[in-house]
Amino acid sequence: MSATMMDGTGLARKVRAEWKGRAQLLAGNGNQPGLAVVIVGDDAASRVYVRNKARACSETGIYSEIHEFPENANQDEVIRRIQELNGSPRIHGVLVQLPLPRHFESAKVIASIAVEKDVDSFHLHNVGALLTGSTVFAPCTPLGVMKMLEAYGVEIEGRHAVVVGRSNIVGKPMALMLLQKGATVTICTSKTRDLAEHTSRADILVVATGKPRMITAGMVKSGATVIDVGINRMPGGKLAGDVDFDSVREKAGYITPVPGGVGPMTITMLLCNTIEAAERAQARSLAAK
Ligand code: NDP
Repeated sequence: MSATMMDGTGLARKVRAEWKGRAQLLAGNGNQPGLAVVIVGDDAASRVYVRNKARACSETGIYSEIHEFPENANQDEVIRRIQELNGSPRIHGVLVQLPLPRHFESAKVIASIAVEKDVDSFHLHNVGALLTGSTVFAPCTPLGVMKMLEAYGVEIEGRHAVVVGRSNIVGKPMALMLLQKGATVTICTSKTRDLAEHTSRADILVVATGKPRMITAGMVKSGATVIDVGINRMPGGKLAGDVDFDSVREKAGYITPVPGGVGPMTITMLLCNTIEAAERAQARSLAAK
């Protein structure tokens, strides 16, 4: 039997419509949510991501600014701009598009973002707070996965979740968020011996490796929920995930497609975090009156 497809595009549309109402309420009070995106250098993919974020903001009623710096920009100059944005009442979220050029210390630049404006959740405060389940903002990609699991009624508590990948932006926070919800979590990496032995025991399998179609049907438990975070551009231009969708869909219970799965939810979570930042700023200013 074919798996139920988890429609990230449809869910993202629904979530954005709900949150757009919240953005409009804020705007009605003179507090329109605002996001500033800082981009350094001319990486083509980064520019596309930044444009997409700005477009998504405008569709959801969020004001946005793009702060562009050349490849040879000075790190202190970028940090000074971030500090200005930290102090701007028009801006509620500050995001630094990664990767930064090689002469930058990314950690130092990210650390200059005010924690209450760190809507991407890359600041060490938020990274560390994830261990205790008390982040100011949760990181967008794993948060998007959690929302998809919730929307499709996938039970997490007491289930065995296997996360393939241990990056700081996807694998590690994903594992912590599943753990927080009561899953028994296994994390696999490129060093894992006999990957299939682990993946085939997963009730929930989240794959974020950047290795196209590496998870095949034989590596998946019958009826499992399979979340494919991977986005890989194939020769010829088509996108593929890290999961072999055509074979795995015949065995899984739920599966996310690529494109149209986790991707649209990631950017949606960024919008939600920005609107939430604006709501908190409004509440702080009301409390101060
Ligand atoms: P990274 O390259 O930072 O991390 C990849 C991870 O996968 C590493 O931990 C690596 O292990 C592990 N890995 C690689 N090969 C194997 C293997 N054969 N078996 C087991 N583990 C393996 O990638 P990201 O986490 O940043 O991204 C992963 C994918 O997700 C990419 O395709 C990316 O484009 C996509 N992505 C999608 C997003 C979305 O919104 N949908 C957002 C962010 C990323 P090790 O640490 O041992 O090297």
